[in-house]
Amino acid sequence: MAYKLDNVLFSEEQIKARVRELAKDIARDFGNDKPLAVVGILTGAAFFLTDLVRELPENLDVRIDFMSVASYGDSDKSSGVVRIFHDLKSSIENKNVLIVEDIVDTGLTLSHLQELLHNRKPASLKTCVLLDKYERRQTEVKVDYCGFKIPDKFVVGYGLDYAGKWRHLKEIKTLVDDGK
Ligand code: 5GP
Repeated sequence: MAYKLDNVLFSEEQIKARVRELAKDIARDFGNDKPLAVVGILTGAAFFLTDLVRELPENLDVRIDFMSVASYGDSDKSSGVVRIFHDLKSSIENKNVLIVEDIVDTGLTLSHLQELLHNRKPASLKTCVLLDKYERRQTEVKVDYCGFKIPDKFVVGYGLDYAGKWRHLKEIKTLVDDGK
């Protein structure tokens, strides 16, 4: 089965507006007592993270680092056991940490990642996701900032891919079976 792009779920303008609101919430919640280590999960969240941090005020002590992880399991099923491909460059000990992820689906990847980073003794650990496919949750996971709650549909664009394709789209779109 092959897929083609279907409807726009969120336009570029909708995403921009929501990212600005999320940045306001984050700026309100963090002080400058400690650096804010923003941890982006590659590759999907890179687009979201770069837009988000540029909306944060310049007087906030923001540090940026990336991790690349994948969960073991079948290609379309997450096992929640996270394998690290690329680890953080800096220590997060005693820093305020904000995980930035593109989408939370079953929650298995994120909950495992939260546990992994929690064990590195950050001063605080919060999570910001752009999209939340809440209907498919298999484990409870704490999401502190959420861009949009979405139905159980596979989405691409704005960093999200299908087999490596369509990450570069400005908007978020659903996919449909192309009948081939
Ligand atoms: P979870 O462990 O929460 O089930 O898996 C989260 C990961 O599954 C995300 O980081 C993302 O890579 C992938 N994923 C889940 N739903 C979608 C979707 O609708 N579109 C895309 N492109 N990836 C998804």
